[in-house]
Amino acid sequence: AVCVVGSINVDVIARVEQLPLPGETVMAHQTLRLPGGKGANQAVAAARMGAAVRMVGAVGDDEAGRWMLEALGAAGVDVGAVARLAEVSTGTAYIAVDARAENQIIVASGANARLTPGMAPPGEAGDVVLAQMEVPAETLAAAFSAPARLRILNAAPALASAVALFPLVDVLIVNEHELAWYAGCAAAETLAATVETARMLRARADQVVIVTLGAAGAVAVWADRHFHAPALPVRPVDTVGAGDCFCGALAALLEEGHAIDAALGIANAAAGLCTLASGAVPAMPLRAAVLAACGA
Ligand code: ADP
Repeated sequence: AVCVVGSINVDVIARVEQLPLPGETVMAHQTLRLPGGKGANQAVAAARMGAAVRMVGAVGDDEAGRWMLEALGAAGVDVGAVARLAEVSTGTAYIAVDARAENQIIVASGANARLTPGMAPPGEAGDVVLAQMEVPAETLAAAFSAPARLRILNAAPALASAVALFPLVDVLIVNEHELAWYAGCAAAETLAATVETARMLRARADQVVIVTLGAAGAVAVWADRHFHAPALPVRPVDTVGAGDCFCGALAALLEEGHAIDAALGIANAAAGLCTLASGAVPAMPLRAAVLAACGA
């Protein structure tokens, strides 16, 4: 199975004409609530890709938490190992989006910050473990030390505490901004420079580093080799969740036994389709659509 260790948030979204300045009040012309959190998004993406997915995370004992467990369950994610914690709220992201699609986001981690190593059930030897940086790093270190077939870290958002986890994982996934941040250099301008920078990040000789490149697809670097897979040629409507879709789909594909190069192309197709619909969870594509899009 794919075991996702990560965040579960409710996204509260307000659409406004202009983002408020400090001290200013603006009116929203639309509000909506969507399931979110990188962990939950990636779990849904992996499940829609056809994997059996177990979620390890934490929510509060509140209406938002129950709503999130229902949403994850409806997407086919096993939430039996999600902790329901008293006296803390379910993680919430308050998102304002203006007419030009610029945004302001405030995240209240809530229960996600209380996910402790003891809350992760023992892993199984055949598992693919997938994690991101929205829950405590100690918990991720414990999860990556449990039995597993493959360990994948999407080191997002970029945090100093992620670096100590790099040697524990087989596959490291970053976007271009995160790559530059971790490497401590300016954004790479060419594919060759990206490949070179990705090699610098590699913490183990046998590690695969994957860099997602937005409209340019993704590149994987391992040993003295690299493989670039172009993006699906699409006209994006909303790229929210595309990175999460890529990670979740990739984990599902690697769990099935696909080689890195094949998995990269199919995960790009999944993420490309994700850009064609609004939101993250509602936009995660089903396996059949992904395979049809990339002719696999
Ligand atoms: P993030 O959203 O984390 O910044 P990227 O922008 O690199 O990550 O996007 C993640 C993946 O989503 C890409 O590797 C690609 O497969 C897909 N994607 C993103 N933007 C586009 C686009 N404009 N056209 C096609 N695919 C895209």
